[in-house]
Amino acid sequence: MSESATVVFLLIASFFRLRHARLYELLFCSTQPAYLTRKDAVIVNRLRIGHSRLTHSYLLLGEDQPTCESCGSPLTIKHLLLECTNLQYVCVKYFNVSTLKELFECVDKHNIIDFIKQTHFYHHL
Ligand SMILES: [Zn+2]
Repeated sequence: MSESATVVFLLIASFFRLRHARLYELLFCSTQPAYLTRKDAVIVNRLRIGHSRLTHSYLLLGEDQPTCESCGSPLTIKHLLLECTNLQYVCVKYFNVSTLKELFECVDKHNIIDFIKQTHFYHHL
């Protein structure tokens, strides 16, 4: 790619990034591997498969499914990452996606970990 074409591409990319964050993530999201600590990688994998101690220990303990302390909805990974309206103010700081597929394919894993840490779920997953 020529130098001027690269500049045009970067200008268009920055325009989309600023104006249309969701579209930018869809068009330009990176699949570069994120280098995570072992614990962070375990957490991301638990989030990806949707199973964690927090959301699934009730099955082994014979208890009722836990509910979100913020809104009372059934506590699931999807709810924590995308649906809980009480966590949206934190979520928008780290990613802007509408599906789990987008989240795990397009968002930097460090952003996901930072979101989980800020919402204080890190040690419960
Ligand atoms: Zn909730």
